[in-house]
Amino acid sequence: MAACSRRRFLQFAAASPAALLSGCSLFPGKSCSKAHVVVVGGGFGGATAAKYLRLLAPELRVTLIEPKTSYITCPGSNWLFADLTDIRQLTVNYRALSSGYDIKLITDSVSRIDPAGRRLTLAGGQTLGYDRLVLSPGIDFHWNTLPGYDAATAEIYPHAWQAGPQTLLLQRQIQAMPDGGMVLISAPAEPYRCPPGPYERASMIACWLQQHKPRSKVMILDAKTGFSKQKLFEAGWAKYFGYGGGDSMLEWHSIADNPLIELDTATGTLYTDFGDKFQGQVLNIIPPQQAGRIARESGLTDTDGWCPVNAMDSSSRFEKHIHVIGDAARYAPIPKSAFAANSEAKACALAVVSLLKQQAPPDPQWLNACYSLITPEHGISVAGVYGLNAEQRVETVKGAGGLSRGNDEREERLEAGYALGVYRSLVVDSFGSAYST
Ligand SMILES: Cc1cc2nc3c(=O)[nH]c(=O)nc-3n(C[C@H](O)[C@H](O)[C@H](O)COP(=O)(O)OP(=O)(O)OC[C@H]3O[C@@H](n4cnc5c(N)ncnc54)[C@H](O)[C@@H]3O)c2cc1C
Repeated sequence: MAACSRRRFLQFAAASPAALLSGCSLFPGKSCSKAHVVVVGGGFGGATAAKYLRLLAPELRVTLIEPKTSYITCPGSNWLFADLTDIRQLTVNYRALSSGYDIKLITDSVSRIDPAGRRLTLAGGQTLGYDRLVLSPGIDFHWNTLPGYDAATAEIYPHAWQAGPQTLLLQRQIQAMPDGGMVLISAPAEPYRCPPGPYERASMIACWLQQHKPRSKVMILDAKTGFSKQKLFEAGWAKYFGYGGGDSMLEWHSIADNPLIELDTATGTLYTDFGDKFQGQVLNIIPPQQAGRIARESGLTDTDGWCPVNAMDSSSRFEKHIHVIGDAARYAPIPKSAFAANSEAKACALAVVSLLKQQAPPDPQWLNACYSLITPEHGISVAGVYGLNAEQRVETVKGAGGLSRGNDEREERLEAGYALGVYRSLVVDSFGSAYST
């Protein structure tokens, strides 16, 4: 890994706005005017890629394909459980992107990709050619890894891991639960989208229960032995919910050595390998995950279900004209987050424009910053900077990024405010506007 990557990252970040405002000034003298880049998936990864492709090369034709006319952000969706937001505030549409950045929007889904012919087919039957394809289809679930839990059962016991109706269903169930009830959250093994998400969710639910149903409990059954920002979460839980004591409102149990083996859908009971039994009035089961279906069906995934990429230019290891970003791709150790998808999209856009101009892409660097709320006044964060090592693999830049210090009420309050600020700026940066226009 180049020794000065942090400094170079900062230089790039500082140089970018001017370069972007002056269009292709990063690439003097060369144009990619006839080229057509198709972006599949209008989530954080795809929306950002489409926007930055146009900013970097205004002469480029960019088409964004997304089946939904509006997008509900998963970031912020846990805050709903503490009544801090509502679905309307978490919803954006694509008008700012299509009108403000001249991106052609097609409201449909891609049903087939033909990499050899560089064409794709939409569910509606239309076919489309491309010079480069950027794929950001997000995740699908590995159903039935817990026998008895599939897409139909998720309508009774929601995962709420794709924001929208599932989030509202889980919220309604918690609100309808009798005081004294138990909310069970089953958290998956890595890798999955948003590593701290289950723990922020448990915190937000506990906050609400404390006010409205104080005899109730939240229990996390975790397929891992530890989790993101664990010490910070546990310190917060001890402070607000009595965590670690006999009467704690919130409990966390690792069941890594004693996994869940069955869900009795009639009684809402989870059984483990060693015969333990957990019953809840509300079950939030977050299943293991894999890359979105179109990536798998197009032969872009490994046996583990994720898309391997050449991180240098984000191209698929299997198809060089297809670039994969966001949750579907494997950029580990970068976690699967909206912030990371946005960062991967910018590096990808720069690589795609470089390749179209027959120039070598610059060394990429990536950022992740992830804020979680423990209460509305207590925020915590983790941040990381990533670059390429000598083998062209992604590695963490040592000495950059870090965790909240903890145990400082002023900082905790400030970080709760930053959580909202970072959310808003990430949405505006990705979708061109924070609201449905
Ligand atoms: C509860 C929760 C809280 C979270 N909180 C945070 C947070 O605070 N900060 C953070 O950074 N991240 C957070 N995340 C993670 C974040 O939501 C994801 O990492 C991010 O959405 C990934 O972006 P993406 O573009 O890869 O996928 P997505 O955002 O899922 O977008 C994929 C898009 O592709 C479309 N698509 C799929 N298949 C096709 C097809 N065949 N044709 C066309 N379009 C297709 C889908 O409709 C979808 O709109 C959270 C996640 C959850 C579940």
